[in-house]
Amino acid sequence: MIKDIVVRDAGGKGLGVFALRQFRKGGFIFRRRYGRIVANTSVDSLTREDRRHLCELDYARSAVLLAPGCYLNHSCEPNAMRSGVKVLAWKRVRAGEEITIDYRLNAFGSRRSRCLCGSASCTGQITGDFFSLSPRQQRDYLPFAPRFIRLEYRRRTAS
Ligand SMILES: [Zn+2]
Repeated sequence: MIKDIVVRDAGGKGLGVFALRQFRKGGFIFRRRYGRIVANTSVDSLTREDRRHLCELDYARSAVLLAPGCYLNHSCEPNAMRSGVKVLAWKRVRAGEEITIDYRLNAFGSRRSRCLCGSASCTGQITGDFFSLSPRQQRDYLPFAPRFIRLEYRRRTAS
């Protein structure tokens, strides 16, 4: 069981995932679990709740995330990073802190959404696209990005 984290109210963002202990930089926090895998073309048939908790796997498919992983909120300056289904500390995480990841890691497209992360670099709006990150962030995140993003990155930097 996952005992080092807890899901609770994160203010305007709804629910969030919070650390119950400190995690050192790079440390393993928990593993996310996938429910149904759906074709991106049939996302509209999902319930509203399932649509809120999608994780893009590649150009064609998305996974519906199960609790507690589905409650991880986005931050433009996250303290955690995903590597596949594993969630790792990107910076040191203190007990009681909300654990956040950057949704742009595995996103491709131009969907825009409002951002309530409140970090210094946040413009209040995020574009759900890895390639909307700064060149430096793209380089930092690349080893953790899914294969389809890494291939696209190589294609773009080669030309
Ligand atoms: Zn933000």
